[in-house]
Amino acid sequence: MRLTNVCVGYGIKTIVKDINLDFEKGKIYGIIGKNGTGKTTLMKAMMGLKEVQSGFVEKENTIGALIEEPGLLKDRTGYDNLKIKAMMEEIDYGEIKELLKLVGLENAAKRKVKSYSLGMRQRLGIAMAIIGKPEVLILDEPINGLDPEGIKDIRNLFISLREKYNMCIIISSHILEELEKVCDKFIFMNEGRVISVKSKEELREDLVNCTIIKINKEDGIDKVMKKLNVKKYSVEKNVIKLYGEDIEICDVIEQLVKDKYKVSEAYKSRLNCEEYFFKMIR
Ligand code: ADP
Repeated sequence: MRLTNVCVGYGIKTIVKDINLDFEKGKIYGIIGKNGTGKTTLMKAMMGLKEVQSGFVEKENTIGALIEEPGLLKDRTGYDNLKIKAMMEEIDYGEIKELLKLVGLENAAKRKVKSYSLGMRQRLGIAMAIIGKPEVLILDEPINGLDPEGIKDIRNLFISLREKYNMCIIISSHILEELEKVCDKFIFMNEGRVISVKSKEELREDLVNCTIIKINKEDGIDKVMKKLNVKKYSVEKNVIKLYGEDIEICDVIEQLVKDKYKVSEAYKSRLNCEEYFFKMIR
């Protein structure tokens, strides 16, 4: 799937602006952005549910998707829900058993959906989306509201789908931490735009590449950082944090000392995901 200069919106308002992205088979992509950034709007355009205002969406023949709530019939069993979908899509019922096993619902298949937990419903929703084994699977906030156990199950499910069917899976979330363990690529969005795309390796490197420097006072630090050409940093309670900056700690210390600051500690630390994300969209 390829998006070229895609803009999408409602009425005359453009929400999603100038998106250029390539998605490959066998990879899991995470679209990260705060609520209201335009992730759902973009996903709808990718599925063809929403027309683009400009640009192009080149897509595969088969796309499965779960956007917002899975539309499940709660008074029917998990099996029935899948059977009805298979019937509508003219897909062999034989696939249903395999799907139920894949999403870990084989023992709950005969229970009514209203007795399912949120995680089970979500897994059934995903099973519905992958009936017919689509080449691309698009999931909007599939992890939202799940407990840690549920998150782990869904994560393992994505990994099996990638391994078994070489699917391209595109997942959105407003919580980076939820996607960190499962995605091969991370697409950061803010206010309708893609602000950064990182591979798993790049993200890991950025997360460990936080430098902490403890000093005796913080007035005038902005000036020091300007001299050093450091842009991504924060100062709070006499602690400077440098985020993913390509600069040697000793150069920073040297400048600080020159400018009459006392440095009591300096070390590299791992950032937490949310802190990183917050800095990224700042
Ligand atoms: P996200 O999925 O990142 O939370 P959305 O794509 O749902 O973001 O929404 C992006 C923006 O588009 C929001 O400001 C939202 O209010 C607006 N929006 C969403 N749906 C509609 C609609 N049907 N009509 C007008 N504006 C909408």
